[in-house]
Amino acid sequence: MKQSPGITGSVQTTQKLATLVQTHKNWNESPDVLTRLTRRLSTTLSLATQMGIIAEEMMSVIPFDCMTYRHQIASKDFVYATGIGGPHRCDYRLNLEGQFYGSLTFSRKRRFTERELQGLELILGAAICPVRNACQYLAVEQAALTDPLTGIPNKRAMNDAMARATSLSNRHGLQNSLILCDLDHFKSINDQYGHIIGDRVLQLAAQELQNAIRTSDEVYRFGGEEFAILLPQTSEADARAVADRIRQFISTIRVRCGEATIAVTTSCGVAMGLPEEDPKQWLARADEALYRAKDNGRNCTRVFAAITHG
Ligand code: GH3
Ligand code: MG
Ligand code: MG
Repeated sequence: MKQSPGITGSVQTTQKLATLVQTHKNWNESPDVLTRLTRRLSTTLSLATQMGIIAEEMMSVIPFDCMTYRHQIASKDFVYATGIGGPHRCDYRLNLEGQFYGSLTFSRKRRFTERELQGLELILGAAICPVRNACQYLAVEQAALTDPLTGIPNKRAMNDAMARATSLSNRHGLQNSLILCDLDHFKSINDQYGHIIGDRVLQLAAQELQNAIRTSDEVYRFGGEEFAILLPQTSEADARAVADRIRQFISTIRVRCGEATIAVTTSCGVAMGLPEEDPKQWLARADEALYRAKDNGRNCTRVFAAITHG
């Protein structure tokens, strides 16, 4: 009996699908390190998770005491390290298509043999494409959270940080404070000296803000000439002192433009986050305090008191 082409086609399709199912099963359950490594790496774009996977899979073939990965992505250092190293080490620079994707070091007490080094290189060769993808993803993610003019985190990063701070303080009862800084009469600097000079003042203001705070605090460019500082575990009174120090640091800025020397001041609004308060309400209180500082003649600090006495 002659089969119609349609029936032959469907038999072929069934066979192909059966092979696909079997291949998928083999792929998923394969004990082979390279298959398992690439399969696991393909499930994540987190560079830290990928490094954990590489360390685990590498360790299953070539024992080592410590693996360290370092890379600078968008001016930030990314470091991943496991364990404590031994005296014998091998270093690799991860390069793909002329681009550098970080350096990896393995170390241990015993010398690595030639065969082990070959094995290391095979495993790294299989890992490099996913690592490149994770590096590029991290770079894009960082760019989306960074203000290009000043290089400090932007409003989006600030919203994320405030949401994190609020949920942490609700869970652990910690006090966080927020300072909003708005440069005084900044429009007149632009109007008198031009936007390029205005931009330079903004860059210097961002630097001075960073100089004025502790490393645990973070500065954000909140708007045009507005900056925000999030101070973890800081009371209202301490935040006020930081705001006053910030005003002092900003007042030291000098920009030369022809014969003129430009100086700038800032007004600050402070609010401490309240328990169960929404980040928007917290921000609105800091903004209200800032408005009062402007209303009081500028170049001063006002606090939106969390607790009103008497
Ligand atoms: P106040 O003391 O009340 O805050 O007055 P101000 O002039 O600082 O405030 P206003 O809101 O009137 O003006 C802010 C100016 O900031 C207007 C805007 O053109 C300028 N600005 C915003 N972003 C940038 C920027 O990226 N670069 C420059 N050069 N200027 C900017
Ligand atoms: Mg403003
Ligand atoms: Mg202003």
